[in-house]
Amino acid sequence: MHAIGLRCDDCGKDFELFATVGRCPACGGLLEFEYDYEAIARRFSRGSRSSVGGTIWRWMEVLPIRRRESIVTLGEGGSPLVPSLYVGPKLGLTQLYFKNDTMMPTGSFKDRGFAVAMSWAKEWGVKRGFTYTSGNAGHSFAAYARRIGLQGAVLMNSHLDADRYDLQAVLGYPIIKVEYDSFAEIDDLMSQLTAELGSMQFVNFINPVRHEGMKTYAYELFDDLDGSIPDHVVQPMGTGGGYWGAYKGFTELRRLGLTDELPCMHVVQPAATPPVVRAFETGLDQCVPTGDASATIARSIASDDPIGKGRRVLRALKATGGRAIAVDDDEIKWAMIALGSEGIWAEPAGAASVAALLQLVASGAINPNSRVVCVITGSGLKEVASLPRADARAMVPIPSTVNAVTSVLRSIWPADASAPSGWACDSENPGA
Ligand SMILES: [Zn+2]
Repeated sequence: MHAIGLRCDDCGKDFELFATVGRCPACGGLLEFEYDYEAIARRFSRGSRSSVGGTIWRWMEVLPIRRRESIVTLGEGGSPLVPSLYVGPKLGLTQLYFKNDTMMPTGSFKDRGFAVAMSWAKEWGVKRGFTYTSGNAGHSFAAYARRIGLQGAVLMNSHLDADRYDLQAVLGYPIIKVEYDSFAEIDDLMSQLTAELGSMQFVNFINPVRHEGMKTYAYELFDDLDGSIPDHVVQPMGTGGGYWGAYKGFTELRRLGLTDELPCMHVVQPAATPPVVRAFETGLDQCVPTGDASATIARSIASDDPIGKGRRVLRALKATGGRAIAVDDDEIKWAMIALGSEGIWAEPAGAASVAALLQLVASGAINPNSRVVCVITGSGLKEVASLPRADARAMVPIPSTVNAVTSVLRSIWPADASAPSGWACDSENPGA
């Protein structure tokens, strides 16, 4: 392992690897893993990577786990980078891709972080832990916690959809339903519980391990794009762990000499609760609590008061020239249907990156020939109730006869494909 310690964002104090797993004991700031990048670069240049499979563990050198035996995996990472066939041309973009993290073991990008965090917990013999959730984190935490027999519980927001509770219950891990409106309330509760119970909390940023797993976005995209990086990355944000992790990964790629530049990295928040967008627009380096987190369909990214006042995200926006975009529920619903046309079921929060494209393209922040990656963070199958209502439900059944079916097909197929003999293929160019 090449992690050498932890450093506080605010006071700069250094800590040994397992001296603390929460906020900085000296000032309450957020901690960040430090690595011996020269050693990693030497190892990469020798080609002696200790990569494990096609998962996030392919990049084990940049993750804070010492031994392969510590790895807790359900096959996270290595998600497909899907080229856009319809949305890109519609918006005038020639190189649009979707990083499809709906394909993760528990249906969201959170598995990248929890695989690393739970491997860390196993390696250091952590016995107890807990987290709170807006949906996806709880599913992922429970799935991985079960793999190591971690004693704990998931604190679930009482506003969450019934589907989220059902999926959580199937994982067979204790659930505590909690009423809270502002994220400041639940953050305070978690800090007090940690002190009271002497257990480890797995909340993004307060636990510095989780977003280390999110660095793998940068490394995977570097692989997916044949050793280059995108011009733009668009990511939905709640706390900003996915975004910050990806940013850290790209800065590491540059530090390791694998690329010279950083992508322009944009974040997306729901218009109902856009604290980082407001701070970005007014040039502040930290945000103030804004909006109502229950007033959007994109619950998974609805955070009125991001941990650390959004300072990490605001720093990364400045460093990469990215923009912070607020999208409303109608834009999100458009994006869910647009992604459906590409073969991807996204939850509202997962589709927010595509919803933001409308504004990014219209404002000229993204040029038509730029290489753009939208991260699709969570599956629509997790929240079926939020999917736009389909006309299919209201369809009137027809008799099961050839005449009835063909008359419908003639009305929806193009005229030249209406009645060929044999297979409806191009005989001059089979397979085209
Ligand atoms: Zn500190």
